[in-house]
Amino acid sequence: MDGQAVTITDEVFLVGGPALTAAEDAAIYLISVGETAALIDAGCGRQPDRLLANVAAAGVDAERIKTLLITHCHFDHTGGAAHLRERLGCQVVAHELDARYIEGGDDQVTAATWYGARLPPCPVDRRLAGATETVHLGSRPIEALHIPGHSPGSVAYVMESAGQIVVFAQDVHGPLHPSLLSDHADYQRSLQRLIDLEADILCEGHFGIYRERSEINRFIRSFMT
Ligand SMILES: [Zn+2]
Ligand SMILES: [Zn+2]
Repeated sequence: MDGQAVTITDEVFLVGGPALTAAEDAAIYLISVGETAALIDAGCGRQPDRLLANVAAAGVDAERIKTLLITHCHFDHTGGAAHLRERLGCQVVAHELDARYIEGGDDQVTAATWYGARLPPCPVDRRLAGATETVHLGSRPIEALHIPGHSPGSVAYVMESAGQIVVFAQDVHGPLHPSLLSDHADYQRSLQRLIDLEADILCEGHFGIYRERSEINRFIRSFMT
């Protein structure tokens, strides 16, 4: 199967999403640093072979993927997590406030029911806690920033690549919904934290990749009330 990938920096690629894997998938990003690699989110899990073909198209051996960084529990980001954890033998990382719904296969809080699906429960190997934690890919630090609001345990992952600050914040746009346990005040504070990062590249879950700081700020501020 011929894969496709979008190069974001020489270490960061888009390998999944509606145009690359399956219509309902949120964006799946790949980070490749030295001998190790990581995926950001797992999509719905309906096209795992296509996803791995895209990883190969990015020039990355899937066996190097040791980490799956989950931004939040929603099905369009986690439906494929259990399969990838088994198939790649990778460690799944998520915030403790969302981990319970991923491990429990909670179809309401993960919005799996919105997709007419059930979430395959997936063990979380590393639970993030508190406002910030550092995850290492080899010697490269990646900051995990707790940005609650859209979900209780939403996380943005922040790394420096090619001299630029890259933020994987996924569902910056929301939505907020009671069945997702969303919190409007938390969400507004989290948007401000994202602005304060002064990122050069914002990788969003459904709205694409923003590369200019003015564009990033305009996008984030459009959700601030
Ligand atoms: Zn999403
Ligand atoms: Zn979401």
